[in-house]
Amino acid sequence: MAAAAALPLLLVGSPAPAQAQDSPRCHSTGTDEAVESPIEIDRSAACPGNRSTLSIHYPHSVDGTVLFQDKPPLGGRPSEHDDVRFVIASQGPQPYITFNGERYNLSNVHFHGHAEHKFAGQPFAPLEAHLVHERATLPKAYVVFSVLLDAKTLSEPSQHDRLIASPPVLGASKDVYHINLNALLPASHSTYRYTGSLTTPDENGDYFKPVNWVVFDHRAQAGQKNVQAYRSLWDSAGNHRELQVSVPAPKVYAYR
Ligand SMILES: [Zn+2]
Repeated sequence: MAAAAALPLLLVGSPAPAQAQDSPRCHSTGTDEAVESPIEIDRSAACPGNRSTLSIHYPHSVDGTVLFQDKPPLGGRPSEHDDVRFVIASQGPQPYITFNGERYNLSNVHFHGHAEHKFAGQPFAPLEAHLVHERATLPKAYVVFSVLLDAKTLSEPSQHDRLIASPPVLGASKDVYHINLNALLPASHSTYRYTGSLTTPDENGDYFKPVNWVVFDHRAQAGQKNVQAYRSLWDSAGNHRELQVSVPAPKVYAYR
């Protein structure tokens, strides 16, 4: 592949404007401790963001492998914890972010159908992409970008389409080239952030915490046929975790 220059994208969120401070529920309830994920996000109850700094350093283009990950029980029809994921090749410039001054490397991009996170007053999106970043130093911690996807009739395939279209069979993989990671994100980098957990369990059945969730306010797009084909890999239960309700509820912070 052509040499891909690392183009740091500095942005993603200055604190939300002052009107968000009027939210009556922002200061009175809620916790910053890690809760179970996913959650429903009430935009009207979000606090103005002032706690975290984020910058994205994705190369212009990356190569890698799309894997239809088969977790136990192996084989047969895909289980709820299986997913199609893109793992970036270890050669070449590595995508990473800095979050609160610490480096997190992009480990994989994978998809859930229907979506896991939900905005209050809106139906579930048909698909949700997770861009999983793992802290470069121990102890283990994650920053996961959540991008909700709409299913659209597109004149040309999106970068999401390139990752979900024609997946390999369960347990197999295929190489993909020249994926533009920045194009997986919505044009607007407005986000909602809270501290939660992974939404798939480890081998012991535990849902790892803490995960710094960065849920994009706007949706990205994938082709209708590809979304339907992805969803049809599972039965009606799909490959998503149900919404989790925690008491106290997590504090959610808005960054515009
Ligand atoms: Zn996920």
